[in-house]
Parts: sequence; C-alpha cells; structure tokens
Amino acid sequence: MSGETFPALVLSEAGGKVVAEIRRLGEGDLPEGDTLVAVSHSSLNYKDGMILKGVGRLVRRYPHVPGIDFAGTVISSSSREFAPGEAVILTGWRVGETHWGGYAGRARVNAAWLVRRPAGLSAEGAMAVGTAGLTAMLALDALERHGITPESGDLLVTGAAGGVGSMAVAMATRLGYRVLASTGRAAEGEYLQALGAAEIVPRAALEAAGADKKPLLGERFGAAIDAVGGVVLAGVLAQLRYGGAVAACGLAGGAALATTVIPFLLRGVSLLGIDSVMQPRRAREAAWARIAATLPPEALTRMTQTVGLAELPDLAERILAGKVRGRVVVDLARA
Ligand code: NDP
Repeated sequence: MSGETFPALVLSEAGGKVVAEIRRLGEGDLPEGDTLVAVSHSSLNYKDGMILKGVGRLVRRYPHVPGIDFAGTVISSSSREFAPGEAVILTGWRVGETHWGGYAGRARVNAAWLVRRPAGLSAEGAMAVGTAGLTAMLALDALERHGITPESGDLLVTGAAGGVGSMAVAMATRLGYRVLASTGRAAEGEYLQALGAAEIVPRAALEAAGADKKPLLGERFGAAIDAVGGVVLAGVLAQLRYGGAVAACGLAGGAALATTVIPFLLRGVSLLGIDSVMQPRRAREAAWARIAATLPPEALTRMTQTVGLAELPDLAERILAGKVRGRVVVDLARA
C-alpha cells in the first residue's frame, strides 16, 4: 500500500446537516473492494446534488465520499478482469451513495462495476458524458427496442438544458431524429439549437397540458425522453402519437404522476422505465460504445464546464434548483 495521500471531498453530518470539506486521505482510508483506481475525473449529476445537500437521505453512513461516477486508470486489482494501467469508467451500482465514490483521487471498488473506457473517448470526455449521458443513451436504446425510429415522428426531450436532456438532444439529433427540446429556461434556446434541437417547446406548455388533466390532447410527439416527471410527464403522455412511447428517466419536476390510462388504451402508447444504476454490464458496454461512436467531441465541449472539488457544494445547490446548464466535469487535478 502506498503512503501517498490524495484529495477528497468528504461529507460528514453535524446537527442534522450535511457538511462538505476537502481533506487529504490515504489508501488505507478507502472502503473494501478488489480494485484500486486512480481517479482523474468525476462529474456532477442531479443525484450528486441531492447527496451533497443531504436531500432524500440517500447516504446513511458518514463520513462519506460522494461522486456517483468516475473515470480513471486501474492501479491494482485482484480480479483477473483488469490489469494495472487500464482506462476504466464507473457509473451506478450505488457508488457515491452506499459506497465511497469519485470525488477523490483514488477509489477502491469492485471490478464487476467497471467498464473499459472506449477508444475515442478521453477520461474527461467520458465524464462529460457521465451517468447523464449513459442514461440518455439507455433511453434511446429502449425507445428503439420498442420500434421507435426517426420516422415515428418528432422526439421530445424534457429538461433539455440539463445533463440528461442536453446529452439526449445531442445524441438523438446525430442518430437522425428531429428533436424538440423542452426547457423552462427560454434563454437556453440558442444553446439547445446549437446541440441540434429543431424547435424549442416551453416547459410551461407541457405543464399546462398536464395540469389540464384532459386524458388526450392533439397527437404531437412520436416519442419522448423525459428527465422531469410529474405534471410535465402527464402532459407528454396526453400528446404522444398513436403507438408512441416515452422513456421516463427522471424526476427533476416531481415524482408523483397524475394521469389516466386513456392514452395507453386508446392510443397504444407506452411508458418505458429507465434505470442506469443496476443496468447489467453488457448493456452498459454496448451503450458506451454507441455513445463514443455517436457524439462528436465538439458537442461534448459545448455542453460541458470543468470544475475542481471546491466548487461542488455551490454547484450542488444550483443543480437542485435547475440552474446548471449541460454537464459539469470534476477534474481531480484541480483540487
Ligand atoms: P439536471 O439538473 O442537469 O437536469 C434536470 C433539468 O430538469 C433541469 O436542467 C431543468 O431543465 C429541468 N428541471 C429542473 N427543475 C425542474 C422543475 N422543478 N420542474 C420542471 N423541470 C425542472 O439533472 P440531470 O440531467 O443530472 O438529471 C435529470 C433527472 O434524471 C434527475 O431527476 C435525475 O435524478 C434523473 N436521473 C435518472 C437516472 C436513471 O438511471 N434513471 C440517471 C441520471 C439521472 P430546463 O431548465 O431545460 O427545463
């Protein structure tokens, strides 16, 4: 074991509040696992925002190192799957939640949770994609397995200026879909068009449709990728074309869903659930390969800002308030 120390963002609980501080840790501080990884980059996702701010009690044991995804290089592994020096990515498996995560210069995890970083994607690029991009690709895969193609009609993306949304807009556009981007931030219209959106749909229009509680409205969308949930998802369901489908991946606008079964019965529409966390490895590897082949580096650059560990507590508040645009990469070398 090396005596080297590395920076980490450590959460502790004091007086019912979650407090973050940057400390130097050693390898001996890390939890158990068969593989030690030198983490070069992590990212900020909505769930990281919740964990950093103690929202939803996702973390039960402190001190805790958050960061639900990371990219890095294997230092050592007792598993035969990975050799020292291999470039790897981790997302999901509740790392950063029940197991220490990526906001540290080293992580000790299980080899079964890792995937090889595809050629053509740098570590920084992989974390620009991150859990958000993987989720967006899993949503596109699910829609396609259901039979959705660009010929099915316009593809709506909700929460479009956020991480999952930006990734979905950019990738769906490159896969040939005509993408409608729904946002509550009119000022991000230009950004979304630069990612490929053909039209902007104001979030308020979907909210009004959902609040209206009419089971069926005009058939407007061939399919949708929904990062928002709540009343917005209800509004989307009422406006899907006959045989359409929505991939539900998020709850940024609320977990409750007040709708009726009428769109399912009269229009044969489908609601497809997307989970990136416990997704089997083979599906992850396929999704990462497709992401690397689909997303040009300039699209990633356009939607990404890079920060150090110290900036995360403030950004956590902003992501929960729906104020972060695109993706946030965490560069561990900046700590
Ligand atoms: P972001 O905060 O980056 O994006 C969420 C977007 O939703 C915001 O940018 C905003 O978009 C919109 N939004 C925010 N607040 C509200 C609100 N109150 N009402 C309506 N819309 C709102 O988060 P992520 O992209 O990282 O995650 C999005 C969602 O997906 C989260 O709920 C997250 O938990 C979930 N998720 C699920 C995964 C899975 O495996 N199922 C994996 C990854 C994420 P705009 O300003 O454009 O309207």
